[in-house]
Amino acid sequence: MLTLKRLHNFSAGPGAVPDSVLALASQALECLPNIPLSILGVSHRSREFVAMVEELEDNLRQLIGLPADYECVFLQGGGSLQFSMIPMNFLRGQALPAAYIDSGYWSHKAIKEARLEGTAEVVWSGESDAYVRLPEDHELPADRDFSYLHYSSNETVEGLQYFREPACSAATPRICDMSSDFLARPIDVTRYGMIYAHAQKNLGPSGVSVCLIHKSLLERCPEGLHSMLDYRKHIGMHSAYNTPPVFAIYVVLLVTRWLRNDIGGLAAMEQINRRKAALLYGTLATHPEFYRCRARLADRSLMNVAFTLPTAALEQQFVTEVEDAGFYGLGGHRSIGGLRASLYNPVTEASVTALTEFMSDFAQRHG
Ligand code: PMP
Repeated sequence: MLTLKRLHNFSAGPGAVPDSVLALASQALECLPNIPLSILGVSHRSREFVAMVEELEDNLRQLIGLPADYECVFLQGGGSLQFSMIPMNFLRGQALPAAYIDSGYWSHKAIKEARLEGTAEVVWSGESDAYVRLPEDHELPADRDFSYLHYSSNETVEGLQYFREPACSAATPRICDMSSDFLARPIDVTRYGMIYAHAQKNLGPSGVSVCLIHKSLLERCPEGLHSMLDYRKHIGMHSAYNTPPVFAIYVVLLVTRWLRNDIGGLAAMEQINRRKAALLYGTLATHPEFYRCRARLADRSLMNVAFTLPTAALEQQFVTEVEDAGFYGLGGHRSIGGLRASLYNPVTEASVTALTEFMSDFAQRHG
């Protein structure tokens, strides 16, 4: 077997995968432990695959503490398809408008899609402030009922994260895009009508998304939806209405085992994530004239640390030098530039320490 030294992976997604999961996934490409077959050739109608989906759902239910009145379904089409399926299933034909918080690049994109289906009211927008903060509860219309309130718990591009659920009326279900912080900390699911997250940040490879949906929301699904766009069809077929991404689902299963057995659950994961973020933000704060955080202090993401340098030339120099030093994925999103370090669950404290050492040295040489 090849022993490769991998780069420290700080990519915003697809991102790092735990080493132990990579080893098991690469073994499974040759042969699964319980059936002499490559995972790539396992039928989605086989007993083995059905058992994988069942175990994955059980693991998620156990990790999150998911109550029985929530469905758990695995879909394709990434986070972006959810931007469309949510209004198709839960806004079409409803009397009340949907509320959308516009707090960054991804939640902004969701609004555009919702407006193709019905009335999506932007109840707060950070656009005019260049998305440097999240709304305070008193800025949200919690005295009005909406079909649902949609928001993104972690803005991957701008590095903003909620440390609370945004306020809404008791009759308004929250629908949350957790694509970039799902399973990074404990979740009180009962505060949500629906949570969705694609896998390629904290859960494994791209190709599959997890959707947790309260059963009461499903009563709203209109008749006449295309089957592939109807949550009820996918739930009724146990996430195998059509051919699902078998390999991606298998890797996500391995990641949930790793989270449970090696990490010890979501509370333990959160402690590790807090330590990593404290280390990196601490290093930025040591050189405040050189490294500048984009986000307001209270809303700084534990997952995506977005920062800038005094000039674009220095940022380019940083990207070149950091890559030469063995680090991957530190360029900022193409929409805003700058720099970004993503600290998803699989990124180790050792990798973050190594990055902070590089950054202190870089600041000393160029600051
Ligand atoms: N939501 C968030 C928070 C994201 O970060 C992204 C992509 N990085 C998306 C949605 C879109 O996901 P996809 O590319 O899987 O459609």
